[in-house]
Amino acid sequence: MTLKRPSMPLLNIDRRRTTFQQVELGYSENDVREEAQRCLRCDICLRCGKCVEICRDKMGVDALQMGYLDFDHPVPTDFRVTAEKCISCGACAANCPTGAMRMEDKDGARILSLCGTILNQQTLLHCEGCGAVLGPARYLDFVQKRTRAVARLAGQRRLCEACARQAQAKFSADDTPAKGQRT
Ligand code: SF4
Ligand code: SF4
Repeated sequence: MTLKRPSMPLLNIDRRRTTFQQVELGYSENDVREEAQRCLRCDICLRCGKCVEICRDKMGVDALQMGYLDFDHPVPTDFRVTAEKCISCGACAANCPTGAMRMEDKDGARILSLCGTILNQQTLLHCEGCGAVLGPARYLDFVQKRTRAVARLAGQRRLCEACARQAQAKFSADDTPAKGQRT
């Protein structure tokens, strides 16, 4: 978001008066490399807008601010919003027809990228019972608020669905009075 188009170096005015040399001198190699980093790879992303619609209308998160996708409802393009709001649900990537939007788990983090540019990266949490990947904290909080069923907290422990079910079954068994003890 901080990279701007570099200004073109120009021949100074005195030289222009006395020579036929080209006025635009061209970018330095470093400027060319920085300019290439701003590339949005429109050859991969079709600009269909599915990812934006799904994030905004189905998930209700609205983490994708890609103004160049929708000419009728222009918004500023700002990928910092994605880093701040994205819950790493993966719905945008799952519905992207070209694979331009991707989500992968790598080196202990869940990473969302658009044409190779990382938009969001969050640390993965694991089940304290079996070690299975649960997802990032922001995603688990989102799901828990809506379903109160997935990734339940048993006491202070964060557990996967299977371990939570086992813990619940054990708790129920321990809590059931033996036959002779019933009143
Ligand atoms: S990233 Fe995928 S879903 Fe989003 S606009 Fe591009 S092609 Fe469409
Ligand atoms: S992964 Fe992030 S950007 Fe994509 S739909 Fe989910 S919340 Fe939105």
